[in-house]
Amino acid sequence: MIKCRFCGRTFESFSDFLFHIRRECKNVPKTRRCPVCGVKFRSIRLCKLHMVNAALSDVKHRNYVMAPV
Ligand SMILES: [Zn+2]
Ligand SMILES: [Zn+2]
Repeated sequence: MIKCRFCGRTFESFSDFLFHIRRECKNVPKTRRCPVCGVKFRSIRLCKLHMVNAALSDVKHRNYVMAPV
């Protein structure tokens, strides 16, 4: 299970969580600069995508977007 750090909703699969962050979570910071690693993106959408994708491989990003269940 995956829990969204920003709103507390839980998801069965990573793809559901990815969809949630990209499309429906209202609490994700609207920034083009990743708060975790400081990389800048051309759009907020790309920055969100980066944060979630990086969470798959990097523990700092994971801790930022996902809460312990
Ligand atoms: Zn959320
Ligand atoms: Zn980052």
